[in-house]
Order: sequence, then structure tokens, then C-alpha cells
Amino acid sequence: MHNVQPLPVPAQAPRRYAFDVLELLVIPAFVLDAQGRVSMWNRACEHLTGVLAHEVLGTRDAWRSFYQHARPTLADLVLQRRTGEVAALYDDHQRPGGGDANLSAQSWCDMPRSGRRRYLAADVSPILDGDGAVVAVVETLRDMTAEKQAQIALEQLATKDGLTGLANRRCFDDTLHAEWQRALRQGQPLSLLMVDVDNFKQYNDAYGHVGGDACLQRIAGAVASEMRTNDLVARYGGEEFAVILPNQSLKGAAIVAERIRCRVERLQLPNLGVGKQYVTVSIGAATALAAPDTDPAHLVATADAALYRAKHMGRNRISLTLEEVVAAR
Ligand code: GH3
Ligand code: MG
Ligand code: MG
Repeated sequence: MHNVQPLPVPAQAPRRYAFDVLELLVIPAFVLDAQGRVSMWNRACEHLTGVLAHEVLGTRDAWRSFYQHARPTLADLVLQRRTGEVAALYDDHQRPGGGDANLSAQSWCDMPRSGRRRYLAADVSPILDGDGAVVAVVETLRDMTAEKQAQIALEQLATKDGLTGLANRRCFDDTLHAEWQRALRQGQPLSLLMVDVDNFKQYNDAYGHVGGDACLQRIAGAVASEMRTNDLVARYGGEEFAVILPNQSLKGAAIVAERIRCRVERLQLPNLGVGKQYVTVSIGAATALAAPDTDPAHLVATADAALYRAKHMGRNRISLTLEEVVAAR
């Protein structure tokens, strides 16, 4: 093991030495004095924001380098003892070790000067005098854009269907479970549509698998375009889609189902596999009034049975359960 001795700080100018260290650091950093004025703005900070030190030193305008609209930086929050506002202003935050006063927070910044959008992590530490009074606050920044984008891509992969961009089966299962619990709490109905493409095997036979994939994408777009914000449309499997309609009665669900059916028909995608017909869908609808100790599998089975009836009756139609089901135990 090497015995590494730190170099002695030049005794005649310790402040200057500390300033130079901060200035040459490759990590973007700035310092606010006790009055909230920028007293230090290092080169890495200039590089990150595109704002030069002489433009910002002595001002209370550090925020302008990071945001379009007036708001405090993390350093301002710490200096002004307003750390209670951090949750409202940042996407995420932590209190790392090293004392209560230290604070870390992350959010997207649309930096006006550089025109760049970056996900920045800020770490703030106060500098105290001998009596424990805050004389300055140091904020260092880390560009976490690549990590954040990778995280978003992973989350998308975990919840989205690759072909259609709709929610995948796993996301459907999780959402149905959550909506079921919500319906239970609020005593509201919960509706479900099962949408299945008619004669799709023939479509594949006529246009090949690639043509079939393109057709599924068009249908997915058509179904999604009929959704309200709280509805969820998912690819349930193969050529089958599922639509969760929170707070929707069977009557309302039937209207949505008929709109989806019409919308797909109006795409006028020829299905040469079945004569001169267009691609159509059949839809089964079911509504449950959630009861304690039940689970949503019953709702899926009921909507599936309705879909089966729609197929049996000739396809390109919707079928409802005869009455709203109070899901059985
Ligand atoms: P029905 O009207 O009774 O629903 O008849 P169908 O032919 O649509 O039903 P069937 O279950 O017999 O066939 C479904 C077909 O969907 C067979 C399968 O190859 C095709 N399929 C499933 N997933 C995909 C996919 O991701 N891409 C393509 N191109 N085809 C798929
Ligand atoms: Mg089908
Ligand atoms: Mg099917």
C-alpha cells in the first residue's frame, strides 16, 4: 500500500486555493453567498449551461441558466430554508448522508442559453461558519440524461407491446387489478371490452405475416383513437385487444364498443382472404360491480364469453353480457 500524503494547502492564500480547485473541477458547480448572490460559477458550469461566469456572478439569477420560468434552484431552497418545496419542484429528491442540511434532487431542465434539455442531478451542501451559521451554499450538478433515458426505455419495454406501442399484457393485468381495487373503494362500475380481429388467419394467409403485422398496427391505432384519458387499451395477445373502461356502465361500454367496431370497418382494409370483405372486429363487453373478496378474472371470463357469442352470431358485431354482473366469489 502506498502512503499517500496530501499536498499542503499554501498557507498564504487558502481561499484562493479552494477557489482554484472548484474552478478547475470537471464537475459543474456554483456557490451562492449568504445573501443568495452567485459568488462562484466554475468552467464546467459554463460549459453545461452556456452561461459565462461574468454574466451571472454577483446576481441572484442562477435559476435563469437552468429554467425558462422563474423558480428557485436547489441552492436557493437550502439557503432560504424552503426545502419543504423540493418535492413540488423536482421529479425526485433524497437526503444523502453527511448531515440534514445536504440535499440531492433531480429533474429535467430546458436550459435556455444552450437550448439543451438535460436531466440534471443537483447536490447541495451549506458551508457553515464557526457558530454554525450558513455563510454560503455549494451546488454541484451531474448530467444524468443518458441514465434517465435508459431508465425510461426500460420502463417502456416492460409495459409496452413492441409491435403496436399499446400497453402489453403485463401492464393490462396490473392495471385491471388496480382499477378493480379502485372500483371496489369507490363503488363504481368497471367495464371491459375484448376485441378480436375477424378471420385474421385468412388475412395472414393472403398478405403474409408482415402484412398481418401492419394490419394489427392500423387496428391498434384505430382502437386507441376512441379512448378517453383514463381508459387503457392493451394488446391482450395475438390479434386480440382488451380495453379497460373505469367508471363505465354497460350501456356506456356498448357505445364505446360500437364506435370501435365502426372505426375499424371504416379503415376499409381489404381482407381478400374472405372474399370482398374488409377487415372487421368482434367485441365482447362486460361490466362488473366489484364486490369484496372477488377478483377481476371473472370480468375477463364474462367479456370473453360475450366475444365468443359475437363470433358465433356472425362476426363484425358487439355482444354484451345480458346484465351487469356482480362478480361472484
Ligand atoms: P376468428 O374470426 O374466429 O377470430 O378467426 P381468426 O382467424 O382471427 O382466429 P384464429 O385464432 O384462428 O387465428 C388468429 C391468427 O392471428 C393466427 C395467427 O397466426 C395470427 N396472429 C397472431 N398474432 C399475430 C401477429 O403478431 N402477427 C401476425 N401477422 N399474425 C398474428
Ligand atoms: Mg380472430
Ligand atoms: Mg383470437
